[in-house]
Amino acid sequence: MRLALQLAFVSLIALLAAPAVAMSVEDVPNPRNANSWVSDTVDIIDADQEAHINQTIGRLEQETGVEIAVVTVEQVDTPTPKDFATELFNYWGIGKADTNNGLLVLLVRGERRLEMETGYGLESVLTDSWLKRMQVQTMIPYFKRGDYGEGLLVGVGACDDQIRERLNNPSPAGGPTSDYGASNTDDRYYTPTNPEPKRQWPFFLALGIVAVAGAGIGRYIYKKNRTCPNCNIRMQMVPDIDDDEHLDRGQNTEEAIGSVDYLVFFCEQCDFDRILRKAKMFSGYTRCRSCGYKTMDVDTTTVEHATTYSTGRKRITEDCTHCPHHAVRYVTIPRRPRSSSSSSSSSSGGGGGGFGGGSSGGGGAGSSW
Ligand SMILES: [Zn+2]
Ligand SMILES: [Zn+2]
Repeated sequence: MRLALQLAFVSLIALLAAPAVAMSVEDVPNPRNANSWVSDTVDIIDADQEAHINQTIGRLEQETGVEIAVVTVEQVDTPTPKDFATELFNYWGIGKADTNNGLLVLLVRGERRLEMETGYGLESVLTDSWLKRMQVQTMIPYFKRGDYGEGLLVGVGACDDQIRERLNNPSPAGGPTSDYGASNTDDRYYTPTNPEPKRQWPFFLALGIVAVAGAGIGRYIYKKNRTCPNCNIRMQMVPDIDDDEHLDRGQNTEEAIGSVDYLVFFCEQCDFDRILRKAKMFSGYTRCRSCGYKTMDVDTTTVEHATTYSTGRKRITEDCTHCPHHAVRYVTIPRRPRSSSSSSSSSSGGGGGGFGGGSSGGGGAGSSW
């Protein structure tokens, strides 16, 4: 009896003295309740940096609807940080419910691990390969020095740039993989971010230079794309109605449902053709995890509404227009926060705790340091 008591006492002490308590998804404070996008539970982002991150994300959300959450935790209670990222993403419902245009940036300090999780609708904008490269080149060097706040700040800035860039520019095609795999097309859109935009005006000046340079590069690329590499002459543009034979079946489906626009150039001398791909950002379709075309429809239905005292449930149904892919998953909706004590500026978003109710299928990339 006495031994049992002692054992219980010792294990209690051991539990309390554990260096870091692993967090569960429910433990992470939802930043939207405080009208913020950052939940820094480890307290490693300083106030200036956090304000800057919030400003960037807030402006992006207003202009494009994209929602980004930045979270730091010491330890997670899931098998891997990636599992935690997917769970937390769907628990909060980051991104708008109809477009699933959310991004979660999760830093797990105790495991020296960064995970960036994209919603269905952002997978083709922030591709896994682009995210990975950006993390390694832009963010990880800061984390290695222990400068977490600055690393997160430049990472969010790079994503902000990339999303805006992708809204305005077509990308060369080459089958569905160009949206995704390690195609060279991504490099062109990747602009290294100035690591220290301390004052505002040099930052905007740099931004202006990048924009002008970008426009110049855009024209150069267009001209280059339009020239036949064999004959070095200007190629004909094939009208939409006649471009079917140049596209494969999946690409034709994409064009028919309006998720991607294809621009086809054709050389009359040597029969060479070049296909440019412009994915529509929020077409309602996402990249199918089975066939790879942007032809998957994701439908989210609330099965049980969340209340202030119980969690709810939503059903996510994936259906591909091009291939037979069909999948159904269930995701927990968090409890509603108790009475809106903070009378914040009516963030009318439904779903859980102020985010828009977006879903993730597990897309994204992670890096260690
Ligand atoms: Zn030719
Ligand atoms: Zn498919």
